[in-house]
Amino acid sequence: MPRELVEKLWCDFCYADGEKKTEATETIKINGKQAYACDPHAKPILKALETFEAVAERIPTETSRPARSGRSRVARDAPKPDAGDAPKPKEVREWAKAHNIPVSEKARIPQDVWERFYDAHPDRRPAE
Ligand SMILES: [Zn+2]
Repeated sequence: MPRELVEKLWCDFCYADGEKKTEATETIKINGKQAYACDPHAKPILKALETFEAVAERIPTETSRPARSGRSRVARDAPKPDAGDAPKPKEVREWAKAHNIPVSEKARIPQDVWERFYDAHPDRRPAE
């Protein structure tokens, strides 16, 4: 006797509501998920989706954004070549005193003193 196997899809919403078995008439797909729905359950959802589609705007994707933020992040994370070898203010101050260059113990070391230190120690000048 010829026979036909028919797959019946039950409404997921009815089933979630007390395991009621109602034949599904629609497949609703949102965000890569899907649910089967009977007519009474599908209608308000499809109606809401239709309204949503009519008013919603597409979110810009990652690739369509300007690449600025990504590049600056890379630059900030990149290690500075001579970061570990940068001269300390204390060191510069002592060098200045040893060379009779007046520097204050408390105030910032003037830029020209730094320059003289770098001129005397070209290998200590931070890479630009
Ligand atoms: Zn249902």
